[in-house]
Amino acid sequence: MRYEGVIFRPPSEAYSLLIQATIGCPHNRCVFCSMYKNTRFRIRPVEEIKEDLRMARQHYGEHIYSIFFPDGNTIVMKTDQLVEIFEYAHELFPYLSRITVYGSARFVSRKSSEELIRLHQAGLRRIHMGMESGDAVTLERLRKGTTPEQIIDAGRKIKQAGIEVSEYYLVGAGSHERSYEHAVESARVLNAFSPDFIRLRTLVPIPGTPLFEAYQEGSFHLLPPLEALKEIRLLIEHLEVDGSMVLSDHVSNYVNVQGKLPEDKAKMISQLDKALTKDESCFRRADPFHL
Ligand code: SF4
Repeated sequence: MRYEGVIFRPPSEAYSLLIQATIGCPHNRCVFCSMYKNTRFRIRPVEEIKEDLRMARQHYGEHIYSIFFPDGNTIVMKTDQLVEIFEYAHELFPYLSRITVYGSARFVSRKSSEELIRLHQAGLRRIHMGMESGDAVTLERLRKGTTPEQIIDAGRKIKQAGIEVSEYYLVGAGSHERSYEHAVESARVLNAFSPDFIRLRTLVPIPGTPLFEAYQEGSFHLLPPLEALKEIRLLIEHLEVDGSMVLSDHVSNYVNVQGKLPEDKAKMISQLDKALTKDESCFRRADPFHL
């Protein structure tokens, strides 16, 4: 297998075979993201991707159960190309049960419901969709390139096609002044389609990004730990989802709050209330250098 640049994958793909289908990100404008800043976006030729799959078959044998196709927004590829790659992966790996990709709402919404159903039939089982926020103002400030309504539309279409949605919420993305709207509006958006997973990530400015510069200049403020936890509490309080799993599977978070909604809501809120009685000094410092 050949890899170009740094390969990023969600923690939940730790045991997946990684085959690069795209290089970089077709959006590449989010102010907090450094992942593909110096990479010019391109889609790898299908034949090259298939060659990599053959290399993996030779190297690992047929016992591959899950494949994640980086880089950013692989869902942007033509549906015919994705179907060809997914079907080929199934030919090579008879035990393959899961194919997953990154896909933000902006690119998912370009696919019709029929196309998403075709992708599901070809083996696509989960789309990792970085919503970050459901608040229009926060999304605009993050330069995410999506709107709340686009996120709802994409989430519904994915679920109706039988594909799982793994959503990402960026704690503190609205800073102090939008924290309330960021949490409550995000809950509203998530309630509209009950993603299978809601994964919490706490915002940490990464050097080299516009957000890091804003943080250094003092025009963007990070939420201190207790405020970040209050924001998560607000989000969970307003979530009226059906069957979504909330996870804190990332090193950036202050507390490992997790559970299934609606049944674990009271438990999660009480866990957060307990954490909120602690002193700020019990948590890592809210700055970029103490992860
Ligand atoms: S869409 Fe995703 S990969 Fe692309 S710049 Fe935004 S956060 Fe980074």
